[in-house]
Amino acid sequence: MKIVIVGAGIGGLATALSLGAAGFDDVTVVERATELRPLGVGINLLPHAVRELTELGLADRVGSIGVAPSRLSYFNRFGQPVWSEPRGLEAGYHWPQLSVHRGEFQLLLADEVRRRFGAEAIRTGWRATGVEHGVPGADGGVCERVRFTDAAGSELVLDADVVVGADGIHSALRAQEHPGEGAPPWNRLVLWRGTALAPTYLDGRTMIMAGDAEQKFVAYPLVAPGAEGGMTRVNFIAERRAPEGVDETADWNHAVDPAPIVELFADWAFDWLDVPAVIAAADEILEYPMVDRNPLERWTVGRTTLIGDAAHALYPNGSNGASQAILDARSLAFHLATAADTGIDGIEAALAAYEADRRPITTRLSAMTRELGPERVMQLAYERAPQGFADVHDVIPEAELRQIADSYKVAAGFHPDVLNERSSLTAAVRR
Ligand SMILES: Cc1cc2nc3c(=O)[nH]c(=O)nc-3n(C[C@H](O)[C@H](O)[C@H](O)COP(=O)(O)OP(=O)(O)OC[C@H]3O[C@@H](n4cnc5c(N)ncnc54)[C@H](O)[C@@H]3O)c2cc1C
Repeated sequence: MKIVIVGAGIGGLATALSLGAAGFDDVTVVERATELRPLGVGINLLPHAVRELTELGLADRVGSIGVAPSRLSYFNRFGQPVWSEPRGLEAGYHWPQLSVHRGEFQLLLADEVRRRFGAEAIRTGWRATGVEHGVPGADGGVCERVRFTDAAGSELVLDADVVVGADGIHSALRAQEHPGEGAPPWNRLVLWRGTALAPTYLDGRTMIMAGDAEQKFVAYPLVAPGAEGGMTRVNFIAERRAPEGVDETADWNHAVDPAPIVELFADWAFDWLDVPAVIAAADEILEYPMVDRNPLERWTVGRTTLIGDAAHALYPNGSNGASQAILDARSLAFHLATAADTGIDGIEAALAAYEADRRPITTRLSAMTRELGPERVMQLAYERAPQGFADVHDVIPEAELRQIADSYKVAAGFHPDVLNERSSLTAAVRR
């Protein structure tokens, strides 16, 4: 079976590795960028994604570039504690949560793809422009035909049995089937992402979020405690709703001056973390709008389907974007590997099974993240005690906080009781 994957982001590369592990040999990943570079800052891989990476044999390599957060703690904008919970192994999962640098992780996956399929398996510098379904192929069969163009205007045409659109939130393959969608909807929140060397805070491994729905600060260490003396490399996201009149910009690599952002957070110098000092110490700050995509009624047309952000870009509330892309990849490979046959009907049934598995979950997650997801605990604290509190339980009972945290984990498929027990997505092609 010949499979073409469009996009060498985390979703596309994880799909290639999942297909390789399932025994598919003819896999090509085609990427628009002329070169894969370590772009982005930190992302979190939640235990459900780390389980899949572990089953792909990548636990040690990914573990070596990541830090396992011990806790996730939420605070209000005065730095008062709202909710705190253990994460990863500390929370009873069989797999850790890992904070990694997105670009480093992407290059690690790319390296593994080249090892598994050969250096030519990732073709860079080709932008997909469209796909035709069910066209006569050179071998007399019926194929999917993807067209690409390069910077010089040359065209590349690839025929495949299956095409996977892993081309991100601005997916060309999605736009072809859903031409009226336009730009991703923006909720008027602006995110500023960066990394900074900062004094080690709390236990040195805690992911923190402070604030509410209007203004928020998130931080987590990207190196193990002690690696940089009393300092730690922190990944942060500062967030604030834009005033009316500000235009959307969707450029991930748009660097901005830290001074106005430091000013916005000037009052947020907590006794356990000096937020304005962290922002001021950033190497570089990237600005972008908080956008997602409206859920689709279907991801698959012919034998072309979508995965990751192309299928279901989510707001980052819940730190689940990369993890959901990895789960898509594993589910897709599982269903293709266990298809009743390798003919058109078998493949179409496998793609339908993949979509039935993954679309309802990610649609639910999209709705939850639009309602703040697990971060609703902070907004509730703000609504009930805008000036702060002596003890959060005076304004929100512990059971209510726990219910918000648990319901998100159940919806996202990573409650420890479910994840530890569910069957594996590892499957091999029937020969
Ligand atoms: C440059 C960049 C930086 C990011 N930084 C962060 C970050 O710091 N923190 C965070 O949480 N998330 C970040 N993200 C998003 C995060 O990586 C994704 O939400 C998540 O990993 C899901 O990945 P994906 O593979 O579905 O999509 P993406 O990671 O967006 O990957 C899509 C890939 O497809 C390629 N592509 C797009 N269009 C075409 C086309 N027409 N033809 C061929 N190839 C195409 C893109 O170049 C990209 O490599 C970033 C994404 C990008 C692209």
